[in-house]
Amino acid sequence: MPGMWLKVLGTGTSVPSLHRGSSSYLLTAGGRKVLIDVGPSVVRRLLETGFTTRDVDVIILTHFHVDHTADLSTFLFASNYDVEPRTRDLTIVGGPGIDMFYNGLRAVYPWILPKSYNLSLIEMDEGTEEVGGLTVRTTPVSHNSESIGVRIEDVKSITFSGDTDYSINLVKLASQTDLLITECSFPERKVKGHLNLATLQKIVEEAHPGRVLISHLYPEWENFRGVLHAPYLLAEDGLEVEV
Ligand SMILES: [Zn+2]
Ligand SMILES: [Zn+2]
Repeated sequence: MPGMWLKVLGTGTSVPSLHRGSSSYLLTAGGRKVLIDVGPSVVRRLLETGFTTRDVDVIILTHFHVDHTADLSTFLFASNYDVEPRTRDLTIVGGPGIDMFYNGLRAVYPWILPKSYNLSLIEMDEGTEEVGGLTVRTTPVSHNSESIGVRIEDVKSITFSGDTDYSINLVKLASQTDLLITECSFPERKVKGHLNLATLQKIVEEAHPGRVLISHLYPEWENFRGVLHAPYLLAEDGLEVEV
């Protein structure tokens, strides 16, 4: 039985980059396709991967910053006006305020209101929900008031940090997870609300994930000359990981 398959769609940040799209990951698990974060240009990246917005069952937003959500309206607009309109149900999961966020988008873009499919919004904070047959666990992390870390379990488990500073909640969420996909915005510089290698190391020592994929990379990473040893892997756009 196949496990989980992850395609990295974007490893970048708010800084425009030619080779790093903004944050997004496509996870295939239990026959479902889950998009984690929908940063700018992700809809196009989906096409490059051989998928369309119609293939996605669930969208999970780790928080509402633009580099994680800008293409949500593009996604929803395409769901109505692509060559083939969407018919598959869509679930959007987000932290506290997801209704307000979605209604805000709908107020400026009334054309995103679903025309041919059912849309459900699920607000999660600290808790577990069954979403599309997958177990989704979330916990608040240290970034914005709505920021959540996300753990998805099927045959294996995969945990997304979202943007965060050191967070004991994230340590608990990522405990013994098979794959931790984590932000590590800067290799050395410490910026409030984000991780560097030293603070990430503390999380990894406490949570013992099987593998760690480092993402959400600011330009300082391009000059990083250190060597990363297992369990670390440095993410690149287009990377595929089997879990
Ligand atoms: Zn970000
Ligand atoms: Zn952020």
